[in-house]
Amino acid sequence: MIAASPATPANYNRADAALIDTLRGVVGADNVLTEAIDVAPYAFDGTAMLKQRPACVVFPTERSQVPAIVKAVTSAGVPLVTRGSGTGLSGGSVPLDGAVTLVMTQLDKVIEVDTANLTIRVEPGVITMKVDQEAAKHGLFYPPDPGSQKISTIGGNVAENSGGLRGLKYGVTRDYVMGLRVVLADGEEVWLGNQCVKDVAGYNLRDLFIGSEGTLGVVTEVLLKLLPRPQARRTMVATFATLESAAQAVSDIIARKIVPCTVEFLDQTTIRCVDDYANLGLPLDAAALLLLESDGHPAVVEEESAAMHQALIDNNATNVETAQTVEDAERLLTARRAAFSALARVSPTTILEDVTVPRSELAAVVKFIAGCAERHNVRIGVFGHMGDGNLHPTFLVDERNADEMHRFEAALEEIVDETLRRGGTITGEHGVGLAKKPFLRRQLGDGSFELLRKVKQALDPQWLLNPGKVFD
Ligand SMILES: Cc1cc2nc3c(=O)[nH]c(=O)nc-3n(C[C@H](O)[C@H](O)[C@H](O)COP(=O)(O)OP(=O)(O)OC[C@H]3O[C@@H](n4cnc5c(N)ncnc54)[C@H](O)[C@@H]3O)c2cc1C
Repeated sequence: MIAASPATPANYNRADAALIDTLRGVVGADNVLTEAIDVAPYAFDGTAMLKQRPACVVFPTERSQVPAIVKAVTSAGVPLVTRGSGTGLSGGSVPLDGAVTLVMTQLDKVIEVDTANLTIRVEPGVITMKVDQEAAKHGLFYPPDPGSQKISTIGGNVAENSGGLRGLKYGVTRDYVMGLRVVLADGEEVWLGNQCVKDVAGYNLRDLFIGSEGTLGVVTEVLLKLLPRPQARRTMVATFATLESAAQAVSDIIARKIVPCTVEFLDQTTIRCVDDYANLGLPLDAAALLLLESDGHPAVVEEESAAMHQALIDNNATNVETAQTVEDAERLLTARRAAFSALARVSPTTILEDVTVPRSELAAVVKFIAGCAERHNVRIGVFGHMGDGNLHPTFLVDERNADEMHRFEAALEEIVDETLRRGGTITGEHGVGLAKKPFLRRQLGDGSFELLRKVKQALDPQWLLNPGKVFD
């Protein structure tokens, strides 16, 4: 067991003038920010209530600068926090006092699309949606599409192992990463992976870095697998009079061995907030809405859509509509993508959770969350990637109201316990970061929790890469 955690600010140095001069020497003075007003936008990510300014923000403009930056910062005993677009929802890129924040957004080149091997090689600051747009130029497809795809970076996606609306059929970021270039804590660079479809040479270190939340190394290059672009897709929306019947419909679709590309869920609070925000003409009286999409060969899409339609009717959908045009389908998908932004408008503080359960448990957990909201008198909007069993109970609260925050904490504790009791996880895609850290040991148990810390100790013995995230 690693007894004493080095992850406390008392064990770190602050970035001083000498280090800042060295960093200016590496990237140029214009690419280093130190004034409080300039570093303020890098004090938070998409997570409510977590804020801390870094001492300095560095923007590499060439991949080759990253090893020198990492080496300079860690040799000075200063924490290094890597950051993409800062859309994370677990506080992963929130700095520590005195830390250096390394922003990867200017490393945004698409290096190569290899149409012989169906791969794309990109720098970490490439925006997620651009990967798919580049693929589309060659009739290819990059499936992971987080709701933030227009702004998140591929480096952030790798570090969080992000999911998306198509996760049910196509999986998550990990399923597409074939290779990574990583700068380690001592500034050494390693390449992990290759373009081979099969490779069992040695431990799979590439996978260790996927989902490691910037705590093990800095990703400077990503090789991704691409697929042939689906020829057809069909989008449908179903409404339900109860939350449980929507959840039951999802469990039933899976049990009927139908694996559509997308099955997304919005509860009534979310439907109303989204409609108010985006004016999409959604059914405001429905207790729940499912958004479903089938893609692939036209004949398969036809058959799968018909089977889904039947399953929805059999599970008491009050209405099922199929999008007639591409624009109509996009409008429906926008409803889901706007969910977080729409909910965030209605209360001063929006706390979005990420619990995930085996799909057979969905109806019970959705019901439990609704009961929890009532028992603790807190407003919770629920939406999520229901086909993946991934729910985002979103607390609409006010952090200035101490009593409400106590009620929120009590409700969250219950939801976490219930999720774990049903074989679920505290986070399906947003990562542990700072926000879920209190619950990690509870999920993993002492053995695997300590094993994680040993891996960290081996790769980052000074605990300087994004310290205090995931665990202490
Ligand atoms: C509206 C909205 C919708 C969202 N929808 C989804 C969704 O559907 N699915 C989903 O999974 N997430 C979703 N997210 C969460 C978020 O967008 C993802 O976690 C995303 O991958 C973060 O990317 P980023 O570039 O913003 O990374 P950041 O937030 O900047 O960083 C996230 C983590 O990655 C680390 N990191 C970033 N770049 C690197 C790098 N190059 N090397 C090493 N570590 C790095 C950081 O240290 C941090 O720990 C959503 C967020 C918002 C605001």
